[in-house]
Amino acid sequence: KRAFYIGRFQPFHLGHHSVITSIAKEVDELIIGIGSAQTSHEVNNPFTAGERVMMIRHALEDIDVHFYALPIDDIQQNPIWVSYVTSRTPPFDTVYANNPLVIELFEETGVMVKQPPMYHRNEYSGTEIRRRMLEGEEWKHLVPNAVADVIEEINGVRRLRRVAGTD
Ligand code: ATP
Ligand code: MG
Repeated sequence: KRAFYIGRFQPFHLGHHSVITSIAKEVDELIIGIGSAQTSHEVNNPFTAGERVMMIRHALEDIDVHFYALPIDDIQQNPIWVSYVTSRTPPFDTVYANNPLVIELFEETGVMVKQPPMYHRNEYSGTEIRRRMLEGEEWKHLVPNAVADVIEEINGVRRLRRVAGTD
């Protein structure tokens, strides 16, 4: 059994990690789509696709699942988005998603979508973590240690603050 899970992972956090831990128990292989892959260096999308691949690779070292982390660019054409995704991924039989548009687009093509439960959504949220980084508040406890290490290596908080600034 092979499943598909997509997010922007800006950054990859413990909510994602919890969901993937659960999915891993149900599948043989997991395809992780890194959405809006072409976007980086923006206040809502600070990290590159390659940096997000690195976060996911290191964060999932403690989970026993065979996964593929694949960047997926935005194509701005919802009617053909599912075909686009399937053209760039190994075949899969199940989709795990909570995003309403993702659910709608897959279900219209007849693919089964499972909705994983949310874990502490108030704090385990990309938006909340980026807000904390900008405000200088604690955020490292909301991501896997490996992700905090990657963000430090790439000087991610400094980048976020710079791209949030104005001239
Ligand atoms: P942002 O606030 O930037 O949108 P996010 O936390 O929603 O970030 P995404 O990369 O957009 O993260 O999410 C990818 C998938 O993970 C989405 O389907 C989202 O619903 C899900 N997700 C996000 N946070 C949690 C969480 N705490 N528990 C379970 N699933 C989550
Ligand atoms: Mg989101």
